[in-house]
Amino acid sequence: MRLVLLGAPGSGKGTQAQRLRDQKGIPQVSSGDLLRDAVARGTDLGQRAKAAMDAGELVTDDIVLGLIRERLGRPDAAAGFILDGYPRNCAQADALDRVLAELEQPLDAVVLMKVDEKALFMRLTGRRTCPVCGKVFNAYSAPSEKGERCDNPVHGADAPTLKQRDDDKEDVIENRLKVYNEQTSPLIEHYRARGLLKVVNADQPMDRVYAEFVKVSGA
Ligand code: AMP
Repeated sequence: MRLVLLGAPGSGKGTQAQRLRDQKGIPQVSSGDLLRDAVARGTDLGQRAKAAMDAGELVTDDIVLGLIRERLGRPDAAAGFILDGYPRNCAQADALDRVLAELEQPLDAVVLMKVDEKALFMRLTGRRTCPVCGKVFNAYSAPSEKGERCDNPVHGADAPTLKQRDDDKEDVIENRLKVYNEQTSPLIEHYRARGLLKVVNADQPMDRVYAEFVKVSGA
């Protein structure tokens, strides 16, 4: 199964991709996570990406493509993947086509997580992530059972404190939504025209979104 998840920041792409990964063993390939990891490790690439990420702008296409190409080339992605956050503009969609043609792995579907834009602000300001296992929570709608700490049983008694992403602060959120509307949303028509687009109503409780996601994607 080779999927692309499309949707505004805060539409739940990461949450749904993690769930599909856990239930079906398909790797989640998140460009945002790959970039945050590069920034945290202080790699040359991470240092070049940081300023754009802090401002809610897109990182240059060549930096992200390098990360995605390397990740999709790893053995676990040979049997399928869920791309989360990539592509983010038309040039990236074309680059992805070229990489997948080289790997002889065409996409099966592109799933749009459709949400009411007014709900996004709250979803983003409430988002909290575990710095160790990456599990995503929402302080308002899907809090951790352990409050400020991660409730994933893998941590045992040593549950890490959840973090808010720097770019989930209010001033940056506005710009990220603007960038999505201007640069990423044209991909909806791009993939619809190619017959790949499936739409999920992501303004529902998480379990219902997941059920619809599995159904439309055929995963
Ligand atoms: P995300 O976790 O998907 O919300 O991404 C966080 C930030 O990483 C974005 O606001 C961008 O600065 C950067 N980023 C993630 N994916 C891409 C991409 N495909 N192209 C360019 N920048 C990206």
